Amino acid sequence: MSSRPPLSHTDPSGVSALTWTHRLTQLGPSFFTRLQPTPVASPRWAACNQSLRQALNWPETLFDDDHLPAFAGNALLTGSDPLATVYSGHQFGQWAGQLGDGRALWLGEAASAQGPQEIQLKGAGRTPYSRGGDGRAVLRSSIREYLCSEAMHGLGIPTTRALCLVASPEPVWRETRESAAVVTRVAPSFLRFGHFEHFSSQGQTDALKALADHAIAHHLPECLSRQSRWQGNVYAALLDEVQDRTAKLLAQWQAVGFCHGVMNTDNMSLLGLTIDYGPFQFMDGFDPGHICNHSDHQGRYAYGRQPNVAYWNLYCLAQALAPLINDEALTLQVLEGYKSLFPRYLGDAMRAKLGLTGALALETEREADWTLVEDLMQIMATEQVDFTLFWRHLSHAVQDQSSAAAVQPEGWHRITDQVLDRPRLHQWLERYTARTGQPQFAAMAQTMLQTNPKFVLRNHLAEIAIRQAKQGDFSEIETLHRLLQSPFDEHPGAEAYASVPPDWASQLEISCSS
Ligand code: AMP
Ligand code: MG
Repeated sequence: MSSRPPLSHTDPSGVSALTWTHRLTQLGPSFFTRLQPTPVASPRWAACNQSLRQALNWPETLFDDDHLPAFAGNALLTGSDPLATVYSGHQFGQWAGQLGDGRALWLGEAASAQGPQEIQLKGAGRTPYSRGGDGRAVLRSSIREYLCSEAMHGLGIPTTRALCLVASPEPVWRETRESAAVVTRVAPSFLRFGHFEHFSSQGQTDALKALADHAIAHHLPECLSRQSRWQGNVYAALLDEVQDRTAKLLAQWQAVGFCHGVMNTDNMSLLGLTIDYGPFQFMDGFDPGHICNHSDHQGRYAYGRQPNVAYWNLYCLAQALAPLINDEALTLQVLEGYKSLFPRYLGDAMRAKLGLTGALALETEREADWTLVEDLMQIMATEQVDFTLFWRHLSHAVQDQSSAAAVQPEGWHRITDQVLDRPRLHQWLERYTARTGQPQFAAMAQTMLQTNPKFVLRNHLAEIAIRQAKQGDFSEIETLHRLLQSPFDEHPGAEAYASVPPDWASQLEISCSS
């Protein structure tokens, strides 16, 4: 790889569009390998995320054709310092040993209106960590990553972001011949649980400590105040902080019916971001056992199992941090926290879906609300209702009832029309009304319509954008991006994007291949 000729810089004048820092490089060479991206043939813009660029206050010139080569990996952004980092991890419950950025290149941290942001090119060629892989990403999976990052952000769920997408006709072989793409990802940090597992498994405690100190100093300074809860042990506080963020993230995933598909420890963000979009899916028909990844034969990462898998992954992180925390009892005490944190976050997220946001004085009230949630979810599972539409219809039904003088059974028709067993749902709706009282419905409906999205990135919607992009038309990516950026708005005229999948979509199979 070192024999490649050096790439040119994007700004021959030496004036960089971005202001860079490279704090990760201070960790030293055992954490990464410096290398250049491998150019692709005939790159073309497939998508430019102007709203993210604006939010970060990065210049408009970034998406000029002058910068296209840099986002294709055919030139270097002036001031960048490309490298691939090393990590390890547990995949499908087994220790997988060394992995690392096999097809992602870290360019550095660029100053932004939201603080320093790391920029990565995904699909920019082989690295020392590619193992058997080609270092490439196919157009199909890159469109899915681009759109889903932005859809998650639109839903208010922490995620790595997608700045732009470049397509190339360069052939990439998966099950068949496909074409290449490069996604530019942005996040405050791309650190994963696997980075810590790597140095811990190698017995490199000094490196592990340097990494943890780097993470705390630059990305999770709240650990410094949190350590007082953990006998002044800042690494226990680190575990606690990551656990808290992970529990919150999982609650948010469950609440929108998002299945990640490959929750290996190398795909778990230290910052609690959704990272590494592969065979993910927003559920259509509700099934707690839904498996979105066709390569996941055991259903390890089924929708209903995700919260437990996250906990299992936190155990792996705890084990990796053990040499630093150096107190087994304290570590276990931190981990105990998940058992109350996650249910509380999930309870709050699900209560908000019902429009219940007020503070609860008593634990028994919390339990009563959870029973209400669970009973509704049971109806949803029995009826296999469309997850997204059902919650949206319920929000509208509450809105309908709010403008009536009193609740009328037929006033619920928008939601009761969605099920076969209407008496059962009516019974539940009576309990729900008794819980809040109809005068609250107007305010509740407002909350619900801002909590239960109209639009999610359903597999078939991504598939339509992918099929058009393969024909050279990238406009559907733009259309979907626009809708998914504000998924709680009605977007009149876009009803087709909010409806259940067409029959052909049942044939779609999403695997790890990307
Ligand atoms: P994933 O399951 O996509 O999270 O990837 C697991 C590991 O395989 C990571 O270390 C990736 O960098 C690496 N990897 C996945 N696909 C490729 C590829 N096409 N070329 C090189 N490395 C890859
Ligand atoms: Mg990964």
